Amino acid sequence: MKLKIIVLAASAIFLLNTGSTCNGPSAEDSTSDVVRELTIFYTNDEHGWMVHDGDSGGAAEMVGQWRDVEGYSEDGPFLILSGGDMWTGPAISTWFQGESMTEIMNAMNYSAAAVGNHEFDFGQAGLLERAEQANFPFLSANMRDETTGELTAYALPYTLVEINQIIVGIIGLTTMSADDINFPENVAGLDFIDYETALEEIVPQVKSEGAELLIVISHLCKYDMEALAPTLASLGIALIGGGHCHEAVTETVNDVGILESGSYLRNYGKAALTFNDNTDTVVNMELSVVPNDWSHTDPEVAQIVAEWQTRLTDDLASVIGYVENDLLRHSDPMYNLITDAWLWAYPADIAMTNTGGIRQDLLAGDITLESWVGILPFENFIVQLDLSGSQIMSLEGDLVVGGMTKIDGYYLSDGTPIYPDSVYTVLTTDYIYSTFDGFSDYDPDPYETSIHWRQPVIDYIQSLQTTAEDPLENYLDYEPRQ
Ligand SMILES: [Zn+2]
Repeated sequence: MKLKIIVLAASAIFLLNTGSTCNGPSAEDSTSDVVRELTIFYTNDEHGWMVHDGDSGGAAEMVGQWRDVEGYSEDGPFLILSGGDMWTGPAISTWFQGESMTEIMNAMNYSAAAVGNHEFDFGQAGLLERAEQANFPFLSANMRDETTGELTAYALPYTLVEINQIIVGIIGLTTMSADDINFPENVAGLDFIDYETALEEIVPQVKSEGAELLIVISHLCKYDMEALAPTLASLGIALIGGGHCHEAVTETVNDVGILESGSYLRNYGKAALTFNDNTDTVVNMELSVVPNDWSHTDPEVAQIVAEWQTRLTDDLASVIGYVENDLLRHSDPMYNLITDAWLWAYPADIAMTNTGGIRQDLLAGDITLESWVGILPFENFIVQLDLSGSQIMSLEGDLVVGGMTKIDGYYLSDGTPIYPDSVYTVLTTDYIYSTFDGFSDYDPDPYETSIHWRQPVIDYIQSLQTTAEDPLENYLDYEPRQ
């Protein structure tokens, strides 16, 4: 016990020293250097989790914690940044196509956000609307117009912010796999150039505009950030924040700080910097990932969250059925319900979707529209394909099926074998069609039904008119099909 106190006391003295005298050995050096403090709060992959629920979310709680625990104030030496993927998640985010989350992040006083792949979920027109609504810029230095090489209307490569008399140059990067992950139409006309080329082009511009401290905010995973560290070091970049892989990262590679906060506003990354304003160097940098402890509240942000909850309640609270027990997102009856609902709504032989798109459990009790926006949050639409039996049998990956079974061979749900040379109509999502192997090779000309993949499930459940006396369980198929 005694030892612990001594260690704490020693570290407190050390911090005082670094803060007040920098690393100079004599009192003369310390008076000639102007040392300033800057604390960065960093979040990524917020995915619209403005509401605290379970172990996720809580925008008002996080800002409350910044104020009460971290001493945060709007005019203090604080900078708030995001690594992107701000929306697509719970209904309160998805239903309003990012508008609600943008308003929340305005109130949270963000200075910039990197463009993530999910920023494109409502198309480039949707992203432009959000960019116009946001009080802070969306940043991506490696995203260009494919034909002109120019910047897009909704993102800047960098921005300059002055905090505590430090001019901070903030540069954005978008994961190059944005090209693969989103629907091609959502990123049509965009070119994602490699990170090194983008930074080597942009950093001299940022410096020439007076940046004293350089920071990159990115929608990049830990592995990509580590690989980029030598380039970042050579360009004089002190810190990179990441995103996309939902990792919690605090490390230093090539003297570059690497920070990622996890996801869903469960935590925030914190970079406490001591900056020598004479030499424009970072004297000390302490990185941490701090859990949102949900015991504080910022009343202004809470008020805005409450208003969106009211709007959502008005729109989505209508009850469409009843389920007695939790229906787990990763369960056979859930997979069967979704794919069977498609076939109920649309004439075809087979339906295929992926388990990765199913994001939440259906909780026991009243079933609402909101439940389903949360379970199937993505803006996917159903496409119809013509595939031969052998093509169907060759499809691999995270696929669950309706209208057929893959157990002990390939059979339609009426027991008829699937014949290699016969042709079947198959429903899947435009997401799977454009990203999974095989689909687009086998049928280059799919029929776009324009049916949202969530809608048949909602319509099907409504048609059953389930109640506490006659719950959804009475209509579920529990038999595995793969
Ligand atoms: Zn992402």
